[in-house]
Amino acid sequence: MPLSDFPRHPLLFGPSPVHPLDRLSDHLGGARVWAKREDCNAGLAFGGNKTRKLEYLVPEALRQGADTLVTIGGVQSNHTRQVAAVAAHLGLKAVLVQESWVDWPDSVNDRVGNILLSRLMGADVRLVDAGFGIGEKDSWHRALDDVRAAGGTPYAIPAGASDHPLGGLGFANWAEEVRQQESELGVFFDTIVVCSVTGSTQAGMIAGFAGQDRPRRVLGIDASAKAAETRAQVARIARATAGLIGLGRDLADDEITLLPGWAGDAYGIPAPSTLDAIRLTGRLEGVILDPVYEGKSMAALIDLVRDGTIPKDSTVLYAHLGGQPALNAYTGAFH
Ligand SMILES: *Cc1c(COP(=O)(O)O)cnc(C)c1O
Repeated sequence: MPLSDFPRHPLLFGPSPVHPLDRLSDHLGGARVWAKREDCNAGLAFGGNKTRKLEYLVPEALRQGADTLVTIGGVQSNHTRQVAAVAAHLGLKAVLVQESWVDWPDSVNDRVGNILLSRLMGADVRLVDAGFGIGEKDSWHRALDDVRAAGGTPYAIPAGASDHPLGGLGFANWAEEVRQQESELGVFFDTIVVCSVTGSTQAGMIAGFAGQDRPRRVLGIDASAKAAETRAQVARIARATAGLIGLGRDLADDEITLLPGWAGDAYGIPAPSTLDAIRLTGRLEGVILDPVYEGKSMAALIDLVRDGTIPKDSTVLYAHLGGQPALNAYTGAFH
C-alpha cells in the first residue's frame, strides 16, 4: 500500500527546515553540507526524530482505544520525552520505563534535561536499574502488565519507536519530504548522513529513498557502540518498511550502510571527537548538537568530508535528529 494511504496523525509544524551550513562547509574545504532540522519540527517539547515516527503509531493507538502510552529508554532518553509530549497533547497517560543505560557521573543526570521535561508533562517516570540494549526488555513488559492490572488500556511503543511494524514509516515520509524540498530549492543531496541506534530512522529513509528515481547514499553513523546489532535492526526494519509501502523489490545489502568508528566506548558516552564536533558546529554555525547522538554523526561527517570519502563535488544532507535537552545532563563534559 502506498505510504500516502497509511493513517497519519499530524504532530509536526510541517516539513522540517532545510538550510546550508556554509561556514562549516568552507572550514572543511570539501563537499557542501546542508542540514535538515528535526530539532525544529514540532511544537511538542522541543520535537526530534521520534515525533515524526509517532505520527504513524498514534492512529493505531487511538483506534485501539488506548488510554496509556507505554515506552522505554535510557534515563536521558529523547524518545520517552517525545512520547510524554505526544501523550499530553492527545490527553492520554504515559508510563516511561527509564533504564540506567549510561554510566555518566553528572550528579543531576537523572533530574535535568529530558527526564525533567517528562516529569513536568505529567508522565509516570519509572527508574529501572538495567543496562543498555535495543532489544525487548522485561521492564517494559512489566509496565504494560501493570497498566492492564490497573484496568487501563496500554499501547506498547518499543525503544525509539523502532521495532514496531509502523516504526519505519515516519522517515520513509521524510525521504519524500526531502524530494519535494529539493525540487523547491533546486539542489540534490547525493549523500545523507544520519545517526543510528534503534534503527528505524535510517531504515525508513532507506526504504523511502529506494523508491525514488535518483539513487543516493544513506550513510548511517553508529552511536550504539554495538554496531552489529544496530545494523541488523536497520536492515530488518528497512526491508519490512519497503515491503509495507510496496517498493516491489528487495533491498540489496549495499543499500544498507552503517559505519562504526565514532560511537566511542559505549552508548551515551561522548568520545573526544564527539565533543570536538559539538564545539566546532556551535562555534561556526550556532547550531547545537548533543553528546549522545548528533555529536557522533557530525564527527563522522567532518572526518568523511575531510578525507574525501565524501567527495568534494558532493552535496550532503546532515539529518539533525534533535536531542539537545540531554546536554543539561552532561555539564561535566564542557568545563
Ligand atoms: C533516537 C535518536 C537517534 C537515533 O535514532 P534511531 O531511530 O533510534 O536510530 C538519533 N538522534 C537523536 C537525537 C535521537 O533522539
